[in-house]
Amino acid sequence: MVSKEEPLGFLPKEKLKEFVQELLGLGVVLAPKKEGDITIMQEIRTAGELAEDFEQTRNNLRTIVEPQNEILLTYQPSAELFCEENLPEEKQKIVFWCRPCDARAISYLDDNFKDEPFPDPYYIRRRDRVLLIGLGCDSPFPYCFCSSIGGSPFGKDNLDIVMTRVDRGYILEYITENGQEIGRKMSDIIQRLTDDDMTEMRKVQENADKMIRRKAPDPSDISRKLSSMFESPIWKKWGDKCIGCGICTYLCPTCWCFDINDVESRGKGYRIRTWDSCQFPLFTLHTSSHNPRPDKGSRVRQRVMHKYNYHPINYGGRIACVGCGRCSELCPMDIDLISILEDISKAGEKDA
Ligand code: SF4
Ligand code: SF4
Repeated sequence: MVSKEEPLGFLPKEKLKEFVQELLGLGVVLAPKKEGDITIMQEIRTAGELAEDFEQTRNNLRTIVEPQNEILLTYQPSAELFCEENLPEEKQKIVFWCRPCDARAISYLDDNFKDEPFPDPYYIRRRDRVLLIGLGCDSPFPYCFCSSIGGSPFGKDNLDIVMTRVDRGYILEYITENGQEIGRKMSDIIQRLTDDDMTEMRKVQENADKMIRRKAPDPSDISRKLSSMFESPIWKKWGDKCIGCGICTYLCPTCWCFDINDVESRGKGYRIRTWDSCQFPLFTLHTSSHNPRPDKGSRVRQRVMHKYNYHPINYGGRIACVGCGRCSELCPMDIDLISILEDISKAGEKDA
């Protein structure tokens, strides 16, 4: 049994499914689930749907707090006064086994959607009802570089509980009161840790840090150098390679761009918000037909500048990249973000 004050708990391996089944009784549970060769973070209805062995989910938490399509309001085009907001239902959602980098990325969505003077009520309703249980990365993946960008395979940002996999099961670190509450509700399943479990947990976490192979150049240095690189030839170099598919932005956990359209169907109007991408030429096309980002180089520049220069300038130095590596791993043209950052680092030195 775990007491109210206990900051840690132990879940035996054979009790994992029971734990997930209990969570299903507390709210909608989203967890890694296999879809063919990939794993997607999505709603599960039984504990058996959980993917116990997975690397990184293809999607990230943006799909939960800012869905790909949503109807913001409905209206009656012929009636002058009829208009109805479509605010999301306030259901409790429990995200089970998100990776720490994806949990950390939510801070950057908060920066955008919670920011005054126009906080977004649609986002806030969802965000405030999400409880996050993370699974630390004991074997970080080939493209990760979280530790060179202020994160860690066992980082705790935005998580309510973080779990560490050890030989006998899982160690739970309760980070918030909501996390503690879960521990209390599961007190029949959660056990006390032994000293050996504790030693193993420390070892697993230390080893994970050492296993990260990729390293980004110093992000604050990159941020500073970018301020004088708006006209740099490196943007054309990378833009010539890019095919403008938008994958890097659609799969990035810190991207948030969207478009809003009014659509009419069968006498009813719908105001719909959908994800958009700065990698698409139409994204900045003006009605005058002028496009301030007319070529792929200027659009690659926007993606990098936003994350490594504009965001830190606007939000207290915080780089809007968590080093998940998805953009590098999944770009069909092998455009690697770290290689771009290395180019910036070198070009910036020449310019200095
Ligand atoms: S994924 Fe690669 S090719 Fe596609 S838009 Fe991004 S950088 Fe360009
Ligand atoms: S820019 Fe790339 S590495 Fe950074 S958070 Fe986005 S997808 Fe991950």
